[in-house]
Amino acid sequence: MIPFVDLKAQYTGIKDEVNKAIQGILDTCQFTLGSEVAAFENEFADYCQAQHGIGVNTGTSALHLALLAAGIGPNDEVITVPFTFVATVAAIYYTGAKPVFVDIDPRTFTIDVKSIEAAITDKTKAILPVHLYGQPADMDPILEIAKKYNLIVIEDAAQAHGAEYKGKRVGSIGDMGCFSFYPGKNLGAYGEGGMVVTDNAEYTRTIRMLRDWGAEQKYHHVLKGYNFRLEGIQGAVLRVKLRHLEAWTEARRTVAVYYNELLSGSGVPTPKEMSYARHVYHIYAIRTKQRSQWQQVLQAKGIQTGIHYPIPVHLLPAYADLGYIRGDFPHSEQAADEVLSLPMFPELTRAQCEDVCEAIRMIEENEITV
Ligand SMILES: *Cc1c(COP(=O)(O)O)cnc(C)c1O
Repeated sequence: MIPFVDLKAQYTGIKDEVNKAIQGILDTCQFTLGSEVAAFENEFADYCQAQHGIGVNTGTSALHLALLAAGIGPNDEVITVPFTFVATVAAIYYTGAKPVFVDIDPRTFTIDVKSIEAAITDKTKAILPVHLYGQPADMDPILEIAKKYNLIVIEDAAQAHGAEYKGKRVGSIGDMGCFSFYPGKNLGAYGEGGMVVTDNAEYTRTIRMLRDWGAEQKYHHVLKGYNFRLEGIQGAVLRVKLRHLEAWTEARRTVAVYYNELLSGSGVPTPKEMSYARHVYHIYAIRTKQRSQWQQVLQAKGIQTGIHYPIPVHLLPAYADLGYIRGDFPHSEQAADEVLSLPMFPELTRAQCEDVCEAIRMIEENEITV
């Protein structure tokens, strides 16, 4: 069996370090925030080439608090894409603002920068590009538009730890960058976690307050805050894992090279790493018009795949109130119909990649059917 992700393989490689880190928290009883979280905030901000990091309980909270710190609320509009995980859009809703969608560029699965200006209104306050699958959005044109219209740029980097745009790490390119440490992400906690990184001291101070009940000093609540604190155990585990992230990212990139090589000439569309990008392959998605058949055949051969994501947010029942209909974002809709995510994790071997691609070639050549 070739799993889609294998968290156990990773744990096996770092078991002693992780167990020791968790034991440390049990010994000091710094169960929420505390010195391990603070150290991790500094180390991860450094890793992102940003000045400040604010740890929170989830990636969703990171987005939510970044938006709030930017002053976004009711009557504001935030531009983003419908081809993303639902959390990007939910976080905009939590602030009371309205998400306004722009289609994706089908080559990169990230925001089509040529369509942004047409979506700007008097109410637009921010652009929220998503570095989907681990490939950075085309940030330079986004920053230019933001400057021209005085908009804030918040990066959804939940899938893109360590990704680079023109040599700069994502998260520190816009005004704020938001990360998730959900276990399956490129840097995953042993539970939930998230972080905002930024160079802006004022945003940092506001987010630090908002994550902990709006107070800097205990019981002196200046803002209406939340309980969005990052747990001590997660901080300790993430510090250990951060030390391995570069090696894991390089291993993911090697897996992508294997897949590209093994599928070349097959006619199967494979992901393109843009010339400006260091893609970190959170997801390696191919495209096929016979997706459900392919998925079934692969499953029968013991190969697990995923779909990220089968329905674009503008067509989800939960967001029908936005009033969009099928046909509004054709590239997002087509991607949602065609993408198929192949197994992707750092420990995946060359032989496993060969098995996956061999199966795909056989399906393509109609040598096996359901
Ligand atoms: C995972 C993810 C989030 C949300 O992160 P959580 O930690 O699960 O709350 C937001 N945006 C994108 C693109 C994601 O993949």
